[in-house]
Amino acid sequence: MSRTHRLDLDDQTLREWDAVVLDSGPDGIVLDRSAFYPGGGGQPPDHGVLLWGGVQTRIVDARKTGDDVYLVPLDTDPLPPPGTAVRGALEDDRRTALMRTHSGLHVLCGVVFRDFGALVTGGNMEPLNARMDFNLEAVPPGFKEAVEAACNTELRADRRIDVRTLPRDEAFRLPDIIRTATNLVPDDVKEVRIVDIVGLDQQADGGTHVASTSQVGRISVVKVENKGKGFRRLRIAIGDASD
Ligand SMILES: [Zn+2]
Repeated sequence: MSRTHRLDLDDQTLREWDAVVLDSGPDGIVLDRSAFYPGGGGQPPDHGVLLWGGVQTRIVDARKTGDDVYLVPLDTDPLPPPGTAVRGALEDDRRTALMRTHSGLHVLCGVVFRDFGALVTGGNMEPLNARMDFNLEAVPPGFKEAVEAACNTELRADRRIDVRTLPRDEAFRLPDIIRTATNLVPDDVKEVRIVDIVGLDQQADGGTHVASTSQVGRISVVKVENKGKGFRRLRIAIGDASD
């Protein structure tokens, strides 16, 4: 049983909240409630701050260990002792950029599967920059431009991005989920969180996302790299819609 209630999974727009320190030590700080995304699925952890009695503890990393979320403070900042009431706050620029980037990658994934039949084999992101690897034998002429145009059409279409949790059996009856996640979700996971870009892409996903595709902004396909037989790496950058 997790000691930390994951506010980031309840409300992806939350940036400030009250919490109590349950544990603090060399491994980090455990709160009863936390909105720090602890990293995973290619999305890096949030940064932010804990405020307590006029003291500030900057959080520079977060990770999930077992069921608990550990917040890693800047090593020169004071550690709030267990029992301390704190105000948590996320670094909004970083988190919002990561949400736009993560949703942008799902749009890319949906477009490349729909238009070219290629499956994702890996991916990673930093705020506003990301890469995604696909299994694609041949790159047709104009591929880079076609993918970029199709992605931006989907952003302008302002598709809703819904997040819901389904029982495992029900989730794996969704054709898209079978395609993307059968081997990724451990056997002991009884409920599967689904991120659904309505009409384009559904994935089992634990990350944080914007509420609709127009909030991503604009996608540029920066580079298509050939990394070996059938292995293509697409690098994208996220900008504002007006760019
Ligand atoms: Zn994802």
